[in-house]
Formats: sequence, structure tokens, C-alpha cells
Amino acid sequence: MKIQQVKINFVRLPLEEPLVGAPPMPGMLREFFTVQILTDDGIEGIGITTFGGKLIRTLKTALDEFGELIKGEDPLRTEQVVAKLRAASAPCGPGGVAALATAAIDIALWDIRGKVFGVPLARLLGGLRDRVPAYASGALTRTTPTDKLERAAAALVEKGYRQIKAQMAVGGLNAAQEVERIRLIRDAVGPETNLLVDINQRWGVHEAISIGRRIEELGLGWLEDPTTCDDYQGLAKIADALATPICAGEYLYGIEPHRQTLTHHSVDIAMIDLLRVGGVTQWMKVAGMIEAFNRPVASHLLPEIHVHLTAAVPNGLVVEYMPWTWRLFENPPVPEKGEIAVPTGAGLGLKFASDLFDKYGVG
Ligand SMILES: [Mg+2]
Repeated sequence: MKIQQVKINFVRLPLEEPLVGAPPMPGMLREFFTVQILTDDGIEGIGITTFGGKLIRTLKTALDEFGELIKGEDPLRTEQVVAKLRAASAPCGPGGVAALATAAIDIALWDIRGKVFGVPLARLLGGLRDRVPAYASGALTRTTPTDKLERAAAALVEKGYRQIKAQMAVGGLNAAQEVERIRLIRDAVGPETNLLVDINQRWGVHEAISIGRRIEELGLGWLEDPTTCDDYQGLAKIADALATPICAGEYLYGIEPHRQTLTHHSVDIAMIDLLRVGGVTQWMKVAGMIEAFNRPVASHLLPEIHVHLTAAVPNGLVVEYMPWTWRLFENPPVPEKGEIAVPTGAGLGLKFASDLFDKYGVG
């Protein structure tokens, strides 16, 4: 089997928050590249990639160049294809655009492999289970007004979520006001709900320990990215000082930085971003490394694909359900009662929505 054609499309989806029923925000968009790899025996594999910011079109260039490079290659030789892309982009890699472009191609190759063997990706990778816990993410942000927090948090619990995430590190608030916001959410969702908090790298180490101690009594499931992602020693200090588990890893590119977080004991729960790590091939390697360090792994974004990976590995803890990508697909898996089921079709079990390119495509 050979790779015959690689199609790249650029789509812009409306920015919306369907978890709590917020309408699309006028003029606000999220951008994605879709990849379709066609083989000479008629199998098509799909992948996606993205990042925000001004350099987005450089990612299109990288995908076009990589697409040309892999024509004629055997799509089942994932490592060989990835090695070719790594060598081609070595002068500007291994992270950034090179990793994000590689990820989309790698995901599509695994989709092809699943279709060749006629099984869902989760089963191809180990198939530990068919459903995984999912948490609601993106509805309780630092821009949510304080007087709207309780109702939004309660709405998530009413939808069946047993795990929800909120953001702290709100600009302009003092520590006491920050703590009060999280206390309001805890009171609204009750003690049974696993409440997770994301800082998105906005605190210093001492601030994280100080505020972290003030919220210990709220029994959080984790405190995510309390400080800069590559301050491995700083994260370790925070993890050591707090009983609340520290979760981090979504900002890291490739495999090596995850080795740093593990050997420095910077994280209690490791998070992997499927795109930044470089795709399915590298995600599975990092998950195995995390398992060897006796830690669970959580996913970042792309729940429709991460459900396969989390279901495949023994230390898969939970899928982040952030509904940014569901519109890309014809039949996206969505959580029910706080769990998300692995799609049953071969490979990713996903198809791009039939109106995706007509409705949201950018020329
Ligand atoms: Mg995060």
C-alpha cells in the first residue's frame, strides 16, 4: 500500500460554548487544518491540527511540504514516515510547526491502520475499555462573571458531568476574591463532583503555593499548570508543598520535556496534548513513560480522538471534554452521564461533516 494523495483544507469554526448553551460569539473563530491521506487501494485516513496566532499559515505551508514528501510511502510504516518528516524539519524542529504538522499526518496514518485492520483505534492500541470518564471544560473560565458561576457550574452537574474544570488566575482579582470564586463553584456542585482548576501558567511558584494552600480544603481533583510549563523544579516545589495533585504537560512539545517533568517529580498527573506531542505514535510512548512513573495520564483538547487513546492505556485517567472540534465531524462522540464512548467504526471512527468545507472552509 502506498500514499497516493494528501489533501489539506483550512476551516474556521464559530467560537461557542455549547456546554452551558452560550450562543456563538459574533466574529470569533477557531481555525483548523484538516488532512486527508488517500492510499492507492482506496483507503482514506483523516487528521487535524491547529494552533492559534499569527503564524497559522506557516502550518499550511508545512503540511503542504510534508504532504509532498510522504507521497509513495507505505502508510503502515508510521515510524518510517515520522522519521522522514523529522529529518526534513530537523533544522527548525523538533517542536512548533514541525510537530503540529507531523501530528496531523501521524493521526491520519493511524486512522488508515485502523481501517486496514477493521478495528477502532482504541482496540488497535490495546483496547482496555470502551468508555472513559470525561470532564466538562471551557464553561467556567476566568471571563465568566462571578454572579454567573454558580448557575453555570450547576448546569454542568445537571447535564450529568461528575467532573468539571474551572479557571483561576483572574486578572484584577486579589487572592481572597480568587478563592471565593472557586468556593462558590464548589458549593454549587457539591462535594461529590470532582472539581479541577486550571491556572494556565499564570502564577509564580510562591503564589501557587500560597493560594494553593488556601484552596486545599476545597478538595480539588487537580491544580493544572500552576506555573510556567518548563520550570520543572518550580513545579516540583509546588507539588511537594500541596496535597492537591499537580497536573501539567499540555504545553510540552515532543517526548523529551515529559521526561523532565517525570524525573523532576514536577507532576502528579501528566497531561498530553496530541498535537504538540507529535501525534498518536508519540502520545502512546509518553503515556507508557508516565505509566512507568506510576502516574495517570489526562488528555488535552480533541476529545473525539483522545477518547481512543485514553481508552487504550491502563493509566488513562480522564478525557477533557472541550467542545471546540465536534463541528468538524459527522457523528462526533459526546459525553453522556460524564462518560464518553469510543467510536465503534474502524480507525478513528470519524468522518468530516458533509458540510464542513462548504460551510466553514477558507480558500
Ligand atoms: Mg489547561
